[in-house]
Amino acid sequence: MSQDKSLTCRDCGAEFVFTASEQDFFAEKGFTNEPGRCPSCRAARKQNNRGFGRNNSFQQREMHDVTCAACGAQTQVPFRPSSDRPVYCRDCFSQNKRY
Ligand SMILES: [Zn+2]
Ligand SMILES: [Zn+2]
Repeated sequence: MSQDKSLTCRDCGAEFVFTASEQDFFAEKGFTNEPGRCPSCRAARKQNNRGFGRNNSFQQREMHDVTCAACGAQTQVPFRPSSDRPVYCRDCFSQNKRY
């Protein structure tokens, strides 16, 4: 079972929580590394990476249609949804991160 972890951002040195649900999310996306940066530095880097084609390859992954378990909205996720785990739209997922 995953547990919340405290990590230190390698960019700004801030402590941030790598939550159990984020760890599951990473695992489902096939990421094996822990995030090295806090969410705000990650968001900043994503912004910086826009426009560089090679960094956009993740957008070409196969997308799966799902219905958000929280609000019922139709959305797409880059991993195969499993029936024993609720899938959320982007909005609900970011809200859930707090728990
Ligand atoms: Zn940071
Ligand atoms: Zn939703």
